[in-house]
Amino acid sequence: MTQYDYDLIVIGGGSGGVRAARIAGSYGKKVALCESDKLGGTCVIRGCVPKKLMVYAASYQKMFTAAKAFGWDIDGQFNFTTLQKNKDQEINRLNKIYHGLIEKAGVTLYPNHASFIDQHSIQVGSQTITAQHIIIATGGTPQMPDIAGIEYAINSNQALELAELPKSMLIYGGGYIAVEFAGIFNALGVAVKLVYRGPQLLRGFDDDVAQFAQQSFVDSGIEVITQTSLTAIAKTADGYKVISEDGRNIDTDCVFFATGRQPNIQGLNLDKIGVNTDDSGRIRVDSQQATNISHIYAVGDVSNADQLTPVAIKEGHLLVDRLFKGSDRLMEYDNIPSTVFSMPEIGRCGLTEAEACEQYNQVKSYISQFRAMKYAMSEVQEKTLMKIIVCEESDRVLGIHVVGTDAGEIIQGFAVAMKQGLTRDQLHKTIGIHPTSAEELVIL
Ligand code: NDP
Repeated sequence: MTQYDYDLIVIGGGSGGVRAARIAGSYGKKVALCESDKLGGTCVIRGCVPKKLMVYAASYQKMFTAAKAFGWDIDGQFNFTTLQKNKDQEINRLNKIYHGLIEKAGVTLYPNHASFIDQHSIQVGSQTITAQHIIIATGGTPQMPDIAGIEYAINSNQALELAELPKSMLIYGGGYIAVEFAGIFNALGVAVKLVYRGPQLLRGFDDDVAQFAQQSFVDSGIEVITQTSLTAIAKTADGYKVISEDGRNIDTDCVFFATGRQPNIQGLNLDKIGVNTDDSGRIRVDSQQATNISHIYAVGDVSNADQLTPVAIKEGHLLVDRLFKGSDRLMEYDNIPSTVFSMPEIGRCGLTEAEACEQYNQVKSYISQFRAMKYAMSEVQEKTLMKIIVCEESDRVLGIHVVGTDAGEIIQGFAVAMKQGLTRDQLHKTIGIHPTSAEELVIL
């Protein structure tokens, strides 16, 4: 039998890679982890975690406004430098925890970029290491369209690291990252214009949800401009001028492109060893996370599955359980809940109404819009939307969507029930908790 240096090499120390490496290490396997940057990947270093800390910072603006109606006299002064300093400290703390986790599991860290030499050998820095199994978990990175002056635009990595708040910002894109940062910067006092090429933000979301969310963003003070593309950015004496296809010239202090993400496959030498990718460069995997080369796997954003941290973690963990623990459990991709941390938040689990109508014959949706009690007495005008989509034939709940405060916290619990085959009758048998917003979902 061929002798390899390691049972497993993991390329990429983000959420999926670290989980796979440390679980394999804890099973007594000899594991190498290659990561040229800080451990933690997109989620911890330049994604979910720092973004959510900024969302928390921004959310105080609404709380301070609402607080007045409850008798609090607060003159809230915001200090961006304090937020950035504390956020960076927290990321460093988490980074150390990640190091501790892999050390404890006996994983050897190679702090260099890795590339394939052949199907079992990896060049990492000046060393060559070999393994029986290799997992690619290199994640993704922002992609920017090639327009004149694109070098003046920042991406989400840089948006998290701004030294000071601009007075105005133009955000281009209509997906998760665009609407999340639009909410953050708007609440922190920046005049935000959100420009999107399509007719309605959040393509792929339930239509009622996307419409409601877009109106909520407008009501919160964000200027939303749809159905136009940006064609050029020029530097001016005190900022930037952005030109759009429909002839607008928009002056702004900061241009932020949130136009999607691409997989990190550069320099891996995938062509050399023959790993298949799709049109967007994502690595094609089967239900076992295996590429077309059976002992090479991919998990997380570099592969062609949902780009969500908990998905990458689960994929990595289940894969290692199958490789080294005799498990046959596969990743399940149905009813994966997610939340856009916009203001208000958008939580979703299951199908949109359009998707449900495509897949089932008798589909009925139930929808409710109301002003949450928390804001009823205050100047905060934010409304909440709750929607369930049901298959009338089976009574099965096919989709739950919430737009409003704590939508993510609410949808997480309902996702458990949906995984167990939740029906509308079961919702109705459940007693609501009064007064909450979530109780609306059990009476819809
Ligand atoms: P999304 O796919 O959500 O949005 C990309 C946006 O950019 C879309 O509005 C798209 O328009 C637009 N776009 C793409 N290419 C161009 C172009 N060439 N010119 C103009 N506009 C363009 O990507 P994000 O980068 O926002 O997020 C990536 C993924 O990361 C998400 O899909 C999600 O899975 C994950 N994520 C999850 C978060 C969470 O769970 N809270 C937070 C952030 C990211 P169009 O709709 O027309 O294609």
